[in-house]
Amino acid sequence: MKPDLFEAPDYYNLDELLTEEHKLVRDAAREWVKRDVSPIIEEAAQKAEFPKSIIGGLAEIGAFGPYIPEEYGGAGLDQISYGLIMQEIERGDSGVRSTASVQSSLVMYPIWKYGNEEQRQKYLPKLASGEWIGSFGLTEPDHGSNPGGMTTNFKDMGDHYLLNGAKMWISNAPFCQIAVVWAKDESGRIHGLIVERGMEGFSTPETHNKWSLRASATGELIFDNVKVPKENLLPNKSGLGAPLGCLDSARFGIAWGAIGAAMDCYDTALRYSKERMQFGKPIGQFQLQQKKLAEMITEITKAQLLAWRLGVMRENGTATSAQISMAKRNNVDMAINIAREARQMLGGMGITGEYSIMRHSMNLESVITYEGTHDIHLLITGLDVTGLNAFK
Ligand SMILES: Cc1cc2nc3c(=O)[nH]c(=O)nc-3n(C[C@H](O)[C@H](O)[C@H](O)COP(=O)(O)OP(=O)(O)OC[C@H]3O[C@@H](n4cnc5c(N)ncnc54)[C@H](O)[C@@H]3O)c2cc1C
Repeated sequence: MKPDLFEAPDYYNLDELLTEEHKLVRDAAREWVKRDVSPIIEEAAQKAEFPKSIIGGLAEIGAFGPYIPEEYGGAGLDQISYGLIMQEIERGDSGVRSTASVQSSLVMYPIWKYGNEEQRQKYLPKLASGEWIGSFGLTEPDHGSNPGGMTTNFKDMGDHYLLNGAKMWISNAPFCQIAVVWAKDESGRIHGLIVERGMEGFSTPETHNKWSLRASATGELIFDNVKVPKENLLPNKSGLGAPLGCLDSARFGIAWGAIGAAMDCYDTALRYSKERMQFGKPIGQFQLQQKKLAEMITEITKAQLLAWRLGVMRENGTATSAQISMAKRNNVDMAINIAREARQMLGGMGITGEYSIMRHSMNLESVITYEGTHDIHLLITGLDVTGLNAFK
C-alpha cells in the first residue's frame, strides 16, 4: 500500500469551531492512525482478520469509552471529541471504527447508563483498557430492521436466568469476552443481559466470506440454555428504548466516522488527479474530474457542519433520535457516493489495494446497512416530519 500522505480537508475553517482539547484529541488519533493503522490495515482486510495488535492503541487514544467518566476508566471527553475520534479512526478503516463504536456505545454505554454500580466497577475499566472486548447482540436471523420482534428469551429459574436464542451479524462476536444481549422476559419485555465467554451453552461462531468490513470480525451469538447469573441483568432500563438509546450514541459516532472515510477518498483522489498524466495533462485539469472533486468537497463540508451541530446538541442533551438518524443517513450516503466517484478517478489503480478507496467503498456497504438501514432512517425522518408511522 502507498504511504499515508493524508491531509484533512477543512474548506470552511471548521477548526475555528473546535476547542484546543478537541484538536489535541483529534490530532493524537490522526497520528496514531497514520503510524499504527495505515501500514497494516490493507493486509488485515485482504486476509479478513481483525488486527488485534491495535487494541492497545485504540485504548490509548481514548477510543474505548471516550465520553465515559474517568472514574470508570473512560476518557471523560465531550461528544465532539468522541465524534472526532470516530472520524479519524474511520479515516483509517470503517471496520476498526466499528470495533471502537461497539465497545463504547453498545457495550460500555448500556453498562454505564442502565447498569448498577457493581456492574460499572466490574466491567467498565477492563473495557476501557481493551483488556476485555465486548459485543452487542440485538439483530437476529429473522429480526433485523424490526428488532422488537426478537425471539431470544430468558426464564426466571429462581437463582438464575435461563437464556435461549440466537443473534446474527454481531461485530466483535468471535473474540468478545462479554456480550450485552437483548432478550425478552416471560412477559415479552426486552432487557439487557451481560453474557460472559465461558458460560456453558454460549458460543460465537464467526461469519466468513464477507466482502465488506473484512478487518472487523463478525459472528453469531448462540444461547443454548445458558445460565446467566441474576446480577448480570441491567436493572435500570428495559423495553425497546434501551437498545435504541445505545444505537443513538453509536449512530452519532457513525455520522462522524463516515466523514473520515469520505475525507480519505477525497484526499487520495485529489492527490492522484495532480499526479496522473493523460493526454499530456494532469487528469485534475479536465473539467469532468474537477466536477467530481468540487462536488466531493462540497458534500464533505456540508456533512462536517451537520456533524458539528449535532455534536453541540448531543452535548447539551437536546439532540433527538430523529436528528441523529438524519445525520447517520446523510453522512454515510455522502461517503459511499464519494468513495464511488473517487475510485473512478483512479481508473484501474482504484480497484487495487495500493490505495484505500476500494476498501472504504466496500466497507461503507455495511455502514449504510447496520445501525438502521438507509431506508429505515428515511422512514424515521418521514415519521418525524409527518407524524404518520410508515412502519405500521
Ligand atoms: C458487518 C455488519 C455488522 C453488524 N454488526 C451488528 C452488531 O454488532 N450488533 C447487532 O445487533 N447487529 C449488527 N448488524 C446487523 C444490522 O444492524 C442489520 O443487518 C440491519 O439492521 C438490517 O437488518 P437485516 O440485515 O436483517 O435486513 P432487513 O431488516 O431484512 O432489511 C432488508 C431490506 O428491507 C428494507 N426494509 C425493512 N423493513 C422495511 C420497512 N418497514 N420499509 C421499507 N423497507 C424496509 C431494509 O431497508 C433493507 O433494505 C451488523 C450488520 C453487518 C452487515
